[in-house]
Amino acid sequence: KAKADGRGSFRHFEPGMDAQMLERQRLELDLRMAVEKGEFSVHYQPLVNLEDQKVSGFEALLRWSHPVRGNIPPADFIPLAEETGLIDAIGRFVLEQACRDAVTWPDHMKVAVNLSPAQFRTTEVLATVVRALDLSGLRPARLDLEITESLLMDRSDGALQTLKALRELGVGISMDDFGTGYSSLSYLRSFPFTKIKIDKSFVKDLHASADSQAIVRAIVGLGRSMGMKVIAEGIENADDLDFLMQEGCAEGQGYLFSKPRPVSEMAELLESSPAQTSVQS
Ligand code: C2E
Ligand code: MG
Ligand code: MG
Ligand code: MG
Repeated sequence: KAKADGRGSFRHFEPGMDAQMLERQRLELDLRMAVEKGEFSVHYQPLVNLEDQKVSGFEALLRWSHPVRGNIPPADFIPLAEETGLIDAIGRFVLEQACRDAVTWPDHMKVAVNLSPAQFRTTEVLATVVRALDLSGLRPARLDLEITESLLMDRSDGALQTLKALRELGVGISMDDFGTGYSSLSYLRSFPFTKIKIDKSFVKDLHASADSQAIVRAIVGLGRSMGMKVIAEGIENADDLDFLMQEGCAEGQGYLFSKPRPVSEMAELLESSPAQTSVQS
């Protein structure tokens, strides 16, 4: 397969090359330029303390506004960024932006930033986090890093060491999309997690699914006995929220409270009580 070898490089397309591959190459070229061209931005979605219904922080979610194609969802370009190594520069951008934004919020509010397993191939991610904290002046305790189970499946000692070093800095480590990967539960013991995020597939229509209820109950219990905070993502309706609150789930996130919103709407998000925040499209 053809590989980009730097900016401005000339590429040769075979006549028989399928449309999908061409499409992918175009996207890769665009992605290469996107950081410099300022096409990325970070949106924020509130994380809500379910006990008092107050905002405890925000998850930073990357948005790409493509000049021609419009908004491209992360699911459509993160995998490509991972394969091409562009994720390091993109990840640096998100971390620095998120820390810079978070210092302007009330001091008890945290910011959660997603890290891709690909960012753990080297130890660079540690330096990137330290730099983002230094540049912004954000207290490390206000930063949570979200990683998925696929990082643990690599079984790399390097990733574990990096996570431990990050914990030692004082930042939190959240296990994102919990329950969707293939890792063994024993990973929860060996990795220094401070929070578990229940994947939204178990939260959707929770009130109507006995199986999902059993899974959510088990995860909340697991978190409680292991001293990890549990947060449910993808809360879309009040019945599901009621169940989560009954089970003692500490935090929640979802369209019921608010969709991810741009920084320009941050003031609104900070002022409003999340329970009153209407769902925006
Ligand atoms: P994630 O980290 O699990 O983030 C939660 C996703 O669920 C977000 O999708 C969010 O918009 C969506 N969501 C939140 N509440 C609801 C709800 O009530 N219903 C539904 N249906 N969805 C809800 P988004 O923003 O499209 O991001 C998708 C994924 O892309 C993220 O999943 C994360 O894995 C990845 N991602 C996003 N930003 C970054 C980033 O800066 N770096 C990296 N490495 N990955 C990122
Ligand atoms: Mg996340
Ligand atoms: Mg998630
Ligand atoms: Mg997810």
